Amino acid sequence: MISVFHLGQASNFPGKIALFIKKDLIQDFKLNEKSKIILITGTNGKSTTTGILANILKASGKKVIYNKSGANLLSGIITALCSGSNIFGHLKYDYIILEVDEATLPLLTSQIKPDLIAVTNFFRDQLDRFGELDTTVNLIKKGISNNKNTTLVLNADDVRAAFIDSENKKIFYGFSTNAAKGAFNNESNGNNLWQENPEEITTCPKCGSSLIFSNKFLAHLGDYKCSGCGLKRPEVNFLVSLFKTDSLSTYFDITFDGHKNNFFISLIGVFNLYNALCAITIAKTVSNTTNVQVQKGLQSYSTIFGRGEKIDLKNRPAWIYLIKNPTGTTEVLKTLTQIPNARFLIAINDDFADGRDVSWLWDAQFDILSSHKKEIYISGKRALDMALRLKYADINSSQIKVNENITSTITNASKSISQDETLFILPTYTALLEMQRKGLCKSII
Ligand SMILES: [Zn+2]
Repeated sequence: MISVFHLGQASNFPGKIALFIKKDLIQDFKLNEKSKIILITGTNGKSTTTGILANILKASGKKVIYNKSGANLLSGIITALCSGSNIFGHLKYDYIILEVDEATLPLLTSQIKPDLIAVTNFFRDQLDRFGELDTTVNLIKKGISNNKNTTLVLNADDVRAAFIDSENKKIFYGFSTNAAKGAFNNESNGNNLWQENPEEITTCPKCGSSLIFSNKFLAHLGDYKCSGCGLKRPEVNFLVSLFKTDSLSTYFDITFDGHKNNFFISLIGVFNLYNALCAITIAKTVSNTTNVQVQKGLQSYSTIFGRGEKIDLKNRPAWIYLIKNPTGTTEVLKTLTQIPNARFLIAINDDFADGRDVSWLWDAQFDILSSHKKEIYISGKRALDMALRLKYADINSSQIKVNENITSTITNASKSISQDETLFILPTYTALLEMQRKGLCKSII
């Protein structure tokens, strides 16, 4: 059966057709006895975590397959497995790492038995697809309940992930309360600013009382204790005890097994540090990877498909940061506005893969751009909604350049900005696909 769809392409197409004909096709793939299956789910950071983990395990000499391009629905997963298997469906890999959409997890785990499931965090994302956050949490809980022997790697700093109701073995990762001391040279970009993130409401999973935070690191992610029953953040097995960041890299210490270990990665932003931490936690849990191999993997990681990817734009570099929900967007804006001479192009589409509802634009903190005095390029099918959002964020109308056509917007932007400026393109998922399809950008790292 698999041979019929053995097309090995990067799109979801083979997987879609295959599923149409045989709904449980995934069971037809044959694994090596020692292969381990790792699933990564949660709202933010799935792709980056998957990419970093794959690089760490590869640096440890392991054979790894993973779904590379955010293709995290069942069709994309099957396409990835098709491309990595021979015509008999044999997958000869040490590790199969799959980023999995929250709603897809129960479907997938009813058909395969993962060795490990990691849950990154819960934020409102594509509300029209998933409904409220509790619905998403329940989908993941259901996905986990299919496999009692699966080890869980959970973000201890997100109370919904940390206290997911299951008997499975749990490994926790998180930040130490003092981790951010000295993280930024510039005071105004320090700890207080992070607390202005759009947060999810967090209450005690046991008694429903409010939580008291000794510190928050990103939105509602932090070190907490219940004001009613005393429930507190679980003991963290992999703890970021300190980190520092410059304009290009993050240097950090992780304490595990009683030892402090230093690493660095060429990514910035607290959200990316969470991704690296999650990847390292998984790698150390499923393999005997050494610290040297972890660091080699971190260094070899070049951000995948849109999550901070450097591209070649008409012979000049630009950076792409995919945006899709309030928290991720706010973090990206905070990080990028710290970079001198940054210029911005925002492209918003509302196709199915983006989420049809663009009301999330109103929850992202675009007012961070209000101190930016240069022109901002706005494009995509919902360019007008984006332009309106910027007006309400106190950005001068004369700065806002609206053009729904992505091709001409990118051409104009690349012509207009000066050599000492850096263009940051912030597209939604299908806007990014459109850019790639039209050959507007070509990866250079
Ligand atoms: Zn409580």
